[in-house]
Amino acid sequence: MSLLPFAGLQLKELGKMTAPFSNTEKMPVLFLGHGSPINAIEENEFVTGFRTVGKQITKPNAILCISAHWETRGTFVTSMEKPRTIHDFGGFPKLLYDVEYPASGSPDLAKQTKELVTKTIIGLDDKWGLDHGAWSVIKHLYPEADVPVIQLSLDRYQTPQYHYELAKELAVLREKGILIIGSGNMVHNLGMVAWDKLNQPGYAFEWAAVASEKMKQGILNDDHQPLIDYNKQGKEFAISIPTPEHYLPLLYVLALKGKGEKASLFNDKALGGSLTMTSVKIDKI
Ligand code: ZN
Repeated sequence: MSLLPFAGLQLKELGKMTAPFSNTEKMPVLFLGHGSPINAIEENEFVTGFRTVGKQITKPNAILCISAHWETRGTFVTSMEKPRTIHDFGGFPKLLYDVEYPASGSPDLAKQTKELVTKTIIGLDDKWGLDHGAWSVIKHLYPEADVPVIQLSLDRYQTPQYHYELAKELAVLREKGILIIGSGNMVHNLGMVAWDKLNQPGYAFEWAAVASEKMKQGILNDDHQPLIDYNKQGKEFAISIPTPEHYLPLLYVLALKGKGEKASLFNDKALGGSLTMTSVKIDKI
């Protein structure tokens, strides 16, 4: 009796454990301004922007998403096979709570991410799932939910510099077909939204416009340090970033920009005076 079939199986299993993702061309990196959860089910110019960028990108092996809506003590990655769709919002139509995004998880990618990072010990999480910062935008990129998704949490007790440096350790995943997505909003002050102006995309308060312009200059000119030190940039930044969680995913994306790559903007518009939907794509020139 030949032992070959058995030996073959062993090798296959071993290969799965040590190298779940084969080498690919370097994947782009995205920062997506997610805005209201309602974007998950509404047709608007921002949703069109997400779809367009999805079509421009080679289909990834998996997605690693850093969402504004998962803050923890310490850093975690979701490691379950089947992440649940989390409806982490209130006061929206029932239709939105009925949305399920059944993308599978990727325990392999979770493990690989944990092994890759030396800056901290990343915990494997089996309770979270996909929050709306992830699914409400990723569903427009991959409506079939046929790309596995994991999330990496934001350690709320760390400095912006720490997040920027941690992100750099993820760079090698880009060459394994992993699409890294930061999901937040650069300017995000919900307490100051001009509700009566929400139907006029482009409307920005003066301070929001000033901060947004400086952010974009920093992104397009590779001048990242002032963006990392956002809390030293004066009152416009202070009002635009009252809490850091929607801004920090941007730092993860910027940290992953390599030599010979460019940053380009899309969905570059303010909304309701105190939000910007401005999104970023990092890609080869
Ligand atoms: Zn949000």
